[in-house]
Order: sequence, then structure tokens, then C-alpha cells
Amino acid sequence: MFEIITKSPEETAAIGEKIGRLFSAGTVICLYGDLGAGKTLFVQNLAKGLEIDEDVTSPTFNIMNVYEGRLPLYHFDLYRLEQEYELEDIGFYDYVDDPEGIVVIEWADKFADCLPDDFILLTIERTEAEENERRLIFDIRGDVYKDIFQEVEGLCQF
Ligand code: ADP
Ligand code: MG
Repeated sequence: MFEIITKSPEETAAIGEKIGRLFSAGTVICLYGDLGAGKTLFVQNLAKGLEIDEDVTSPTFNIMNVYEGRLPLYHFDLYRLEQEYELEDIGFYDYVDDPEGIVVIEWADKFADCLPDDFILLTIERTEAEENERRLIFDIRGDVYKDIFQEVEGLCQF
């Protein structure tokens, strides 16, 4: 686990974009954090790093959006999802197991029992200090993404 503090949306954006450039097919990243933390902003910039030209919006109403870039991006937002069985209905498990794409899941903590064994976990929190300050806490579940995780840590040092 490691954490970094960003002092502006731009700093969070820069990290998102770098991670997007780094990620290879089959990576799952779960985002935890309250409304307004910066999850969607992070995903929008991850998408830039994946060379997605389309505007990434929060898929709050349709739960999942797919974007084509260097790799397909499956962007889930589980905020409005109420029941576990709905995950199956929207094809969640098929996408999460797709080795061709990148999967990003906002509000993944709502369905913690339904997540895969392996994923990168990013928690974004406001800090007490400043309105535009955020704490980004990176962690990993399982060990499949261990190498990628180390690379993420490396690129966050700069
Ligand atoms: P979420 O998807 O977590 O609900 P959003 O990404 O939609 O949150 O919104 C985050 C808001 O917080 C944006 O308006 C963004 O400009 C603002 N913000 C302020 N400081 C930061 C920061 N350091 N990192 C990310 N977002 C920030
Ligand atoms: Mg959001």
C-alpha cells in the first residue's frame, strides 16, 4: 500500500493519465470514495492514457459504459445499483473476466463480496486541510497485479 496527496484536480488527472498509459489488457481497478472525491475525474484521465478520444461521463444511469481506445475500457458506476443479482443482469462478471479490456469500477465497495480475487484498489479521500486536496491510497488484492502495482508506485513518485 502507498498513498499520495494531490493538491488539485490537475494533479489527480496527471496520475490517472499516466496509469492509463501503463495499464495492459485485463487489469481491474476498483475505486472507493465518497461523492465528489474524484473517482470520475480519475477515470476520465485514465481514459486519456488509453487513447480514448470520446468524453467519459459518469455512467450513473446506465451503470456501465464501454469506450474504445488502445484497449477497451469498461467503466462501471455501481452507485445506483441496489441488488447483487443486477450485476449478473448487466453482464458485470463477463466484463470483469474479459482479458482484453481494462475494467474500472466506481463504488465497488458497495458490492465488496462480488469483486474478483485480484484487483488494484484506489481509495480517494478528501483531506481536512484544503478543499482541493485529496489523498489517493493505492492497494492491491490478490497478487496477479503485483508487478503492475509496483510500476504504478514507481510512476507516482514523480
Ligand atoms: P466522484 O466521481 O468521486 O463522485 P468527481 O470526479 O465527479 O467525483 O468529482 C470530483 C470533483 O472534485 C471535481 O469537481 C474536481 O474538480 C474536484 N477536485 C478538487 N480537487 C481535486 C483533487 N485534488 N483531485 C480530484 N478532484 C478534485
Ligand atoms: Mg463518479
